[in-house]
Amino acid sequence: MRVLVYGSGQLAQMMYLAAAPLGVIVSAVDVSNETVVHPVSKEPTGVSLQNAIEDANAITVEFEHVPEHLLLDADKSGKLFPNVASILAGADRVREKALLSKHEIPNCPYLIITDVTDLDNVIASLGERVIFKASRDGYDGYGQWRMQSADQLEKLKSEFAKLDLVKVPLIAERMMQFDREISLVGARDSEGNVSCFSLAENLHFEGQLHVSVAPITDLSDSLQSQANEIFEKLATAMDYVGVLAVELFQCGEELLVNEIAPRVHNSGHWTQQGCDTSQFEQHIRAVLGLPLGAVDVRGVSAMVNIIGCTAFSRDLIGIAGAHLHWYGKEVRTKRKMGHINVVADSHSHLGNKLAQLLAFLPVEHFPELEAEANRLK
Ligand code: ATP
Ligand code: MG
Ligand code: MG
Repeated sequence: MRVLVYGSGQLAQMMYLAAAPLGVIVSAVDVSNETVVHPVSKEPTGVSLQNAIEDANAITVEFEHVPEHLLLDADKSGKLFPNVASILAGADRVREKALLSKHEIPNCPYLIITDVTDLDNVIASLGERVIFKASRDGYDGYGQWRMQSADQLEKLKSEFAKLDLVKVPLIAERMMQFDREISLVGARDSEGNVSCFSLAENLHFEGQLHVSVAPITDLSDSLQSQANEIFEKLATAMDYVGVLAVELFQCGEELLVNEIAPRVHNSGHWTQQGCDTSQFEQHIRAVLGLPLGAVDVRGVSAMVNIIGCTAFSRDLIGIAGAHLHWYGKEVRTKRKMGHINVVADSHSHLGNKLAQLLAFLPVEHFPELEAEANRLK
């Protein structure tokens, strides 16, 4: 069987690696030049996109910002999962907010900004601390502006006057005081069966995910079931097929949806070693119409992103339970180069292992890690 993935980054690569034992061959599409490439070497396969579409049993995406004409073209085959509307809801914050409102799913208060004069209502409606997010093409905190106090509004106005807000509106969102960031990654198959992984706790630095821990500490049944309900409601409403990630803010016992990602997600990478079935295999199973796999955890996991650096010792894999996943990309500031999964039998042991891990890493590139190791210990 064959799966064609739009996008040729690390997520396509990890789908390829997870699919191989099932006898499933994954090819990737470099969307910048519409070429079919090998997901690991990134070398062109020589197969035309049209032929790859015809040969595929299922077609999917590794990121939501695939040009719309390519999605529509792929969709004509009837083999694209998740469906176009789901991918577009993840790619466009205006559609995403409409989806959340329609299904009465709690999210952060917001306004849509299509003209600089709309900014005059922002403080009265949302307060002085506001995050402005470009409705399209943002990730890892790019395409965002933060307002901490009213005196910053004028400067932002002149900044936004340079943008085409009709074409790409902004979402102004109240800056929330949450207790922590968590995410739910789960899958829905074409028969409507839903299976969710354990909640992951996510530590961000400058808008970018650095560390995930799963299951989260102090996980109550009610929090997991609240998250599962949100997931099932959304996935069912979208008639979603595949793996879907829901980013959440926890405020006391209440969960607010920050955003959704219609694909495998960085905060689900821990499932590669920490779960019976990884999110990558689960996605391949779902889009091909194969049965979903069990999602029982194997102990407690941490996923540590390696961001913008190559200077670390590979000997870290000598720590029992530590596994390296390297993407083979050229190094750039803030670029995700790879990640390390660490599995332990309790949160405190996981803390000890993360402390050991620090000895192999340039600490300046891992600003969250020491505090997280100490918290878990
Ligand atoms: P991703 O790489 O997850 O797709 P993104 O660029 O789409 O990131 P968001 O997830 O919307 O951006 O925001 C990035 C981070 O900024 C969040 O994980 C959170 O830490 C912070 N953030 C976003 N919205 C809010 C909010 N309304 N209140 C407080 N913090 C927020
Ligand atoms: Mg996002
Ligand atoms: Mg996010």
